[in-house]
Amino acid sequence: MNGPTLVSIRAALPQPARPLVERVLKVARLERLTVFLVGGPVRDHLLGLPIRDVDLLLVPSRDRSAAWLAEQAAPEGVPVVSHGRFGTVGIGRGQAKIDLATARTERYAHPGALPTVEAGTLETDLLRRDFTVNSLAYALSPSARRRHPGLVDPHGGLADLHAKVLRVHHDASFRDDPTRALRAARLGPRLGFALTRGSRAVLLDALREGAFGRVSGDRLRRELDKTFLDARLHLNPADALARLSSWHVLAALEPGLELPRTARTALRRLGRALADPPFPLRGRAVLAGLAVWLAPLPAGLRRRTAERFGIRGEAIRRLVDYPAAQERWLRRLARVRGRGATDALLGSIPDEELLALYAAAAPSVGRRIARWAAEDRRRRLPVDGSDLVAAGLSGPAVGRALVRVRTAYLDGELRTREEALALAAELARRDRSRRRRSPPGVPRKPRGPAAAGKGRS
Ligand code: ATP
Repeated sequence: MNGPTLVSIRAALPQPARPLVERVLKVARLERLTVFLVGGPVRDHLLGLPIRDVDLLLVPSRDRSAAWLAEQAAPEGVPVVSHGRFGTVGIGRGQAKIDLATARTERYAHPGALPTVEAGTLETDLLRRDFTVNSLAYALSPSARRRHPGLVDPHGGLADLHAKVLRVHHDASFRDDPTRALRAARLGPRLGFALTRGSRAVLLDALREGAFGRVSGDRLRRELDKTFLDARLHLNPADALARLSSWHVLAALEPGLELPRTARTALRRLGRALADPPFPLRGRAVLAGLAVWLAPLPAGLRRRTAERFGIRGEAIRRLVDYPAAQERWLRRLARVRGRGATDALLGSIPDEELLALYAAAAPSVGRRIARWAAEDRRRRLPVDGSDLVAAGLSGPAVGRALVRVRTAYLDGELRTREEALALAAELARRDRSRRRRSPPGVPRKPRGPAAAGKGRS
């Protein structure tokens, strides 16, 4: 672990974000403002890891807040997004984004509540953080360096980095904010750190006091979101969930909730897919993650867990229905042959379920899914719905005909727009004659197996 210098720390900042940091520091120098680099970036730099996010902290003085400093420093056209009076201000976008916060003090009215926040000092801001290894700061602006020549470590964060442990600051930490347990479960595997024995005891107290029942679903989901997004750092989401399970946190969140052994392999595959996507990924990682994780559990528990994590609306029904749908899709995939038929099946599966299915399927089936999603899904037909309507089709027959044309196209049975239009005309002709045979209101005779077996001529 190298001792950081101002030069090494500035050089380690992500390249695209550096010009913004320099602009903030220029305003800070002119205005004699006290600005530190805090938390994750200091921790990661000390560990020799790349700095991914830039988190700056302004100690407020003379009514100068992070929002004011951000407005002064941001170049014309660069967005400044502010989250509440003492919240973080984001400057820039994408890789060229930095976060700037005003130092604050937090008080918890009751366990699990959102804290009341007021302006604070560097010391109070570091103390409100989750773990000592995140309570490190490094002075950047001249005014900050006059107060603290370099690394600021009031809570033994450096020693804990050496010891590879996560330690909370006080005995009420997990009771005040149980989401810190989810953070510990996520950060632990990421850094290879364990929760100290004392912090485990603090967690146990919070569990005994029922603190986990009082956290909102939205706050839990935001942490769960990050757990699945961290898979992009080549982390297995099952490792974080296994920690939560062994700490009895899952059962405290929802009675009966666990990490089923049978979900682990699929979660590992899901994690790998999020890190190195085998096809362009769409949708929310957390929904794919929940689908895979909860699939072996009973339907009622799946529903309650989804609700507990603040999932809403249609997404809940999809999570409840997922295991039966997965079985059905896998059965059909084993039967269908050809790219067109595969497309007709997979094309109807929502993005999150497709990713979950990829993770749950045997590797050979997974490869078929990946090939379809990477290649065939994007292929455009030489005709569209309006062409089919122009050919004489209407109502649901248009959708059915589109599937037929697409299947034939992906199977290589037709290649040009003319061939596609010819098939559309043929389908329209058959649709007309079928409707003549059974006008509306007259029930159609069921088609016999011979008729059903007749393909397109
Ligand atoms: P990193 O620590 O690498 O920045 P992250 O992206 O999960 O990880 P954020 O969620 O952006 O971190 O939080 C930034 C910092 O804010 C953390 O390092 C932590 O010190 C602090 N923090 C975030 N959530 C909490 C919380 N619930 N309680 C206390 N401190 C928190």
